[in-house]
Amino acid sequence: MDAPAVSVDARAKRATGPIVLLGAPGAGKGTQAKLIAAHFGIPQISTGDLLRDHVRRNTPLGQQAQAIMGRGELVPDQLVCGMVEQRLAEKDCEQGFILDGFPRTVAQAQWLDGRLQAGLLRGKPAEKVPLLVIDIAIDYALLVQRLTARRTCPQCGAIYNLQSNPPHKAGVCDLDGANLITRKDDQEAVIVERLKTYERETLPLTNYYQQRGALRRIDGAGTVEQIAQAVRDLLERRGS
Ligand code: AMP
Repeated sequence: MDAPAVSVDARAKRATGPIVLLGAPGAGKGTQAKLIAAHFGIPQISTGDLLRDHVRRNTPLGQQAQAIMGRGELVPDQLVCGMVEQRLAEKDCEQGFILDGFPRTVAQAQWLDGRLQAGLLRGKPAEKVPLLVIDIAIDYALLVQRLTARRTCPQCGAIYNLQSNPPHKAGVCDLDGANLITRKDDQEAVIVERLKTYERETLPLTNYYQQRGALRRIDGAGTVEQIAQAVRDLLERRGS
């Protein structure tokens, strides 16, 4: 059966708007972003996934990013912002989108504010919904544990955890049967660098967004489902 026709106004009411997921590497941003994207029917935009795709395709951006990512440092703002700008211009972002891993610096946050204010989504429903920033807060000891136990599917991007969310068959993705991998930057030495980078560059963003009244905090220590429920409650409360 065809979906009933919806007026622009009704669509505008339903627009989820722009969402940013903040949190240290391993806090669960990717896992939660996928669940939110599926629940609200909006795209997940993971700058880490986009960059890894550039590396795989060996594009000029991928060539510049590869070594930086391997060291656990940040790819320059200008390159990442350009990549995000292109993705946000796609039609599926009209009703809203969830950014996972972006912004990661105050300069990137300022760029995003500027684009939203300048009508990046001009005339489209999502523009009318203010930016919501969800910070998944979590203890450092737990982060290292989670990152070393993380396995990902190189084909579909599904994320597993050997302890809390293992695949049905060891080493194989439940969704497409591909062999799971450990991300190169999930090795302990790189994890330590990524956490230092996070503290120096990304943690100041919580203040940045708090001052603007956009920040909501969620405890990231629970199970995937507990955190997902907390995120859904937050988003649904906002919509009412
Ligand atoms: P992630 O998958 O989000 O953990 O990102 C993996 C790596 O990609 C990071 O360690 C950075 O090197 C790079 N990266 C991802 N997002 C950004 C961003 N917003 N700004 C700069 N570098 C990024």
